[in-house]
Amino acid sequence: MALKFFDTYERKVRDFEPLSAGKVGIYACGPTVYDFAHIGNLRTYLFEDLLKRVLQANGFEVNHVVNITDVGHLTSDADTGEDKMELGSQRTGLSAWELADFYTKAFQRDLKRLNIITPNLWCKATDHIAEQIDFISDLEKKGFTYRTSDGVYFDSTRLDNYGHLARLDIEGLKAGARVDQGERRSVTDFALWKFSPENEERQMEWNSPWGKGFPGWHIECSAMSAKYLGDFFDIHCGGEDHIPIHHTNEIAQTEASRGTRLANFWMHGYFLRIDNAKMAKSSGEFLTLDLLSERGFSPMDYRYLCHTAHYRTQMTFSWQSLESARAALKRLYESAWSWGESGEVSTAYLKSFNDCLNDDLNMPKALAVVWEMIRSHEADAVKKATILACDEVMGLDIDAWRPEEIVVPDSVQTLVQEREQARSDKNWGKADELRDEILSLGFVLEDTREGTSISRA
Ligand code: AMP
Ligand code: ZN
Repeated sequence: MALKFFDTYERKVRDFEPLSAGKVGIYACGPTVYDFAHIGNLRTYLFEDLLKRVLQANGFEVNHVVNITDVGHLTSDADTGEDKMELGSQRTGLSAWELADFYTKAFQRDLKRLNIITPNLWCKATDHIAEQIDFISDLEKKGFTYRTSDGVYFDSTRLDNYGHLARLDIEGLKAGARVDQGERRSVTDFALWKFSPENEERQMEWNSPWGKGFPGWHIECSAMSAKYLGDFFDIHCGGEDHIPIHHTNEIAQTEASRGTRLANFWMHGYFLRIDNAKMAKSSGEFLTLDLLSERGFSPMDYRYLCHTAHYRTQMTFSWQSLESARAALKRLYESAWSWGESGEVSTAYLKSFNDCLNDDLNMPKALAVVWEMIRSHEADAVKKATILACDEVMGLDIDAWRPEEIVVPDSVQTLVQEREQARSDKNWGKADELRDEILSLGFVLEDTREGTSISRA
């Protein structure tokens, strides 16, 4: 099946063709490194990893660029409030630079734990100040900027189709503008460069043709993507929250300066929610991979959970759904382990699996194909080869999985034997009592057709 993706810009599923044969450039908006990534953020990076793996499975060479926002992202995406990095620095007592370094490493570690393929290139906003200044100067030359007392702003009214990506209702926004517009001429204008406050030294500030200060949040992505992928590249990704402001403004800048809409495809991962509330880093209360592991869940359990929902639907997190994901993944690992050596791949199953993914990354449907294959009458060696081939895209690290080696003390072993005897005597009451006693010693028994298995409680 031809590869197809939903393009937010055109609001439809379209056939995917790379701009240059065999190669695909992807730019994904990276984290703002003022705190740990929460599992909602990580869902977006898992979606991007899935996209990359599916492109690779289709034979493309992928150049995946991810930025690190280490300056300029204010507490409100609409250019008001304080810089998240300076606030993080006050919260932790680290300098803004140390803070960025600490949380960048923590983020990269999270990606590794989730088996997300390392991007081909990381780029930091603070390493590209000159490129951002050049971009703003070009916009200034072309008449798209104006100055206020606190910065240089983009004049969004100069573009006919500003807001097309988000289908923004500009008139409605203007009428209902409750946000503090400050000196901005229009509610949709945004900062390109912000001046440092007078008589106050910021930790992160640079000289520019307009005065000392720091770049706005959106310009880093237009400048860095142009540098590493060109003025028009294949796919730009991010979370759904980027559609109305961040990506809308990236497109405005690039359209004004380079005359392109930046990327051929715009793809967005939908949010992870908790109890129907958005999971926000800024709210302070959020779930991290570390917290999941404190509760006994591995990063792979979370990866599997994310595979059970389509990237274009919001997913509501619950501990119960994570438990189900863990149980399913365990069954999958154990099955694959039990099949032993791998033989020939089932081309029919692999094709159905790939067809689901080529159809706008339908991983839940592809997973259903995997389970159908597990339950099928294919030979074990075929199943093993097929699941390993599917795992190139699922990324569950199936081949590395080993059953947990458990040492069962003799005292427990004796109870297990006594229970076996009780079961063959059909003395179910005694068998149940023994099972409970074994449980109180920290071991769980599971009776299956193949016999009784024992694992740690
Ligand atoms: P940030 O570090 O806040 O700049 O966000 C990093 C990435 O996570 C961006 O692509 C956001 O769109 C995405 N994101 C933020 N919150 C969520 C969420 N609750 N679920 C999924 N993705 C999210
Ligand atoms: Zn961006």
